[in-house]
Amino acid sequence: MNRKTTSKTSVSRRQFLLAGGAAAAASGLPGIARADEEQEKPKIKSYRTLGRTGFEVSDISIGGAGKEANLYRYAYDHGINYFDTAESYGNGDNERNVGEALQHMDRKKVFITTKLQVKDEDTQQTILDRFGKCQERLRTDYVDALYIHSAPTVSTLDNAAFHGAVKLLKADGRLRFAGVSNHGPRAEDEESMDKVLVAAAEDGRFDLMLIAYSFMNRDKGDKVLAACKKNNVGTTAMKTKPGTVKMEPLDPDNPSERAAKYIDRQVKAGKTREEAIKEIQDYIAESEKAFAEAKPFMEEHGVTDREGLRMTAVQWVLSNPDMHTTCIGFQDFDAIDRFLPLSGAKMTRAEVLALDQYRVAASTLYCRHACTECSGTCPQAVPVSTVMRYAYYFTEQAREKHAMSKYRGLGYGDVLPCDSCSGPCAGACPYGVNIKANLLAAHSLLTLA
Ligand code: SF4
Ligand code: SF4
Repeated sequence: MNRKTTSKTSVSRRQFLLAGGAAAAASGLPGIARADEEQEKPKIKSYRTLGRTGFEVSDISIGGAGKEANLYRYAYDHGINYFDTAESYGNGDNERNVGEALQHMDRKKVFITTKLQVKDEDTQQTILDRFGKCQERLRTDYVDALYIHSAPTVSTLDNAAFHGAVKLLKADGRLRFAGVSNHGPRAEDEESMDKVLVAAAEDGRFDLMLIAYSFMNRDKGDKVLAACKKNNVGTTAMKTKPGTVKMEPLDPDNPSERAAKYIDRQVKAGKTREEAIKEIQDYIAESEKAFAEAKPFMEEHGVTDREGLRMTAVQWVLSNPDMHTTCIGFQDFDAIDRFLPLSGAKMTRAEVLALDQYRVAASTLYCRHACTECSGTCPQAVPVSTVMRYAYYFTEQAREKHAMSKYRGLGYGDVLPCDSCSGPCAGACPYGVNIKANLLAAHSLLTLA
């Protein structure tokens, strides 16, 4: 991480110290590092009560697709005790990894959650069968929580098959709690995150919520947190850093594979090659201008790269006591080492205010997770924040295959409606995001062979 050695804020000083932690990266398999190395390693410092589950959860937790088993064991060895997975992550491979790691842990000391997408056609038996397979992959006698994965509407919360299965599983001692996750609508007939999760928190049958929450767009998450607090529901944050799709500078005579694909699509949609190149160059210039405007602020506060911003964004979430744990998609041991020192750390009011200023300075760079503000302006009903979330999986979480597979699921194939659209969505984003340019760039990224 690139940080300043002199700074004006404690954010900078703390981050500079963290660089030492990053340099002392993991050097071998978990559990076999030398004692003196282990002494230097940070550990979780803060545990919070996970709502009415009563579990004392580490303020930093681990989740997401594609992890190797040793990563979970390493996290456990350093005090992380909440592991989030799902049936759909890596087609069950992620659950297998968690299951393998679990064999080396004290089961009672960790909280394991998994998720199932629930559809109207599901029956109690299909839910029980699918949960049984999750449990086999997780190699555990019981799962701590089963979430409805990305519940699309309030009515999904009433799915009788899910609740019937949960009741039986609890009675059998195979499941302890139920939860709901949501990161915004993927289609026009889906409802907003706050609407679904506030209803879930007030429903009484759900003990846990998994919430998209970031300093760039906290309003919806704050509504959910208030409802959770009132109903003593456990809360987990995800998608804590905003993502952006940055195009590399374009050399028209020697375009990158991604730019060449972008140009080809525009030509197929009826533009001349020159018009297509100009469109890309305009987008690059616009995005570079926004980055240049935000840069002095970032440098002043010692946040000089993506990773620095990611850590600061996590620190912002950790400062909110109503969010019980912040789930991070760690991809390697070094990342765990880098983030652990944030456990228990609080931001000062001045730091929070500084981040607020950054939110304004960098407003046009980021499409917000779970945002629906521009929905209704696209005649083709392109789910803007969902496409940009898949780009986020690609650029910010290094989950390229997962991102591309999710994007394929939207059914656009090689052609995005934006290719041949005049762009009536222009100006529809209250934060100034160039919707069409971002979608075109994301499509090029997510359809690379
Ligand atoms: S483009 Fe703007 S309004 Fe549309 S989803 Fe993204 S942040 Fe929200
Ligand atoms: S440019 Fe894309 S997002 Fe905008 S209105 Fe056209 S199809 Fe919809």
